[in-house]
Amino acid sequence: MTRRPLVAGNWKMNGLAASLPELMAISGGYSAALKAKADFLICPPATLIREASVQVAGTGVLIGGQDCHGKASGAHTGDISAEMLKDVGASYVIVGHSERRADHGESDALVRAKAEAGLRVGLVIIVCVGERKEQREAGKAVAVVREQLAGSIPDAATAATLVVAYEPVWAIGTGLTPTKADVADMHKAIRETLSQRFGAEGQNTRILYGGSVKPENARDLIIQPDVDGALIGGASLQAKDFLGIASTYI
Ligand code: PEP
Repeated sequence: MTRRPLVAGNWKMNGLAASLPELMAISGGYSAALKAKADFLICPPATLIREASVQVAGTGVLIGGQDCHGKASGAHTGDISAEMLKDVGASYVIVGHSERRADHGESDALVRAKAEAGLRVGLVIIVCVGERKEQREAGKAVAVVREQLAGSIPDAATAATLVVAYEPVWAIGTGLTPTKADVADMHKAIRETLSQRFGAEGQNTRILYGGSVKPENARDLIIQPDVDGALIGGASLQAKDFLGIASTYI
């Protein structure tokens, strides 16, 4: 089976109602040629998911959340459940982003509980993994990522419900990127890990690269055998840049 690339934007804590025209510019640029080659997903802040879902209806652009709680409901002030994301039109949810692992002390076990919540309601989960700079320098990048994969991905995940995003922490928002060979090596290691655990489902699971992807470096970073798309932060805020990256596929 061929894995259909996914071009995903993570708007992080950026975006007001006034930002929705940028989303419309992205959906307006999702041409027939792009639709033939790749899926488009935008994960705006939770406050915009409902309106974003309404606005992209019928365009093929998918909408996702950036995080969810592990429980369906309850006394968890400020948190948002997977059920709530689904209710306002999300079909994907990112879990275990390194900013959440760092800012909120999220462990692999917690990320897994969130991923299980996403699966429970029928969301596709994007599980983020990636090493810190000192871990790479110590030669531990692959071991760190393997441990995150083992601890963060639920047993029930399938190729249809799981996407893995490899995001080296030191490359996020910094303009720094790994070499083409480093990306290839890590994605190969992730593929092997997924295949050992999930068999054919692991072979068919999409693995995204994320970390300072821009139109200028996209070809080198994402046109590789085990790279099935990109998770894009800063460059997803401008339709021109997001579409420039996606056009690598046509
Ligand atoms: C991200 O946060 O998922 C990300 C990849 O950010 P950036 O593209 O800005 O490095």
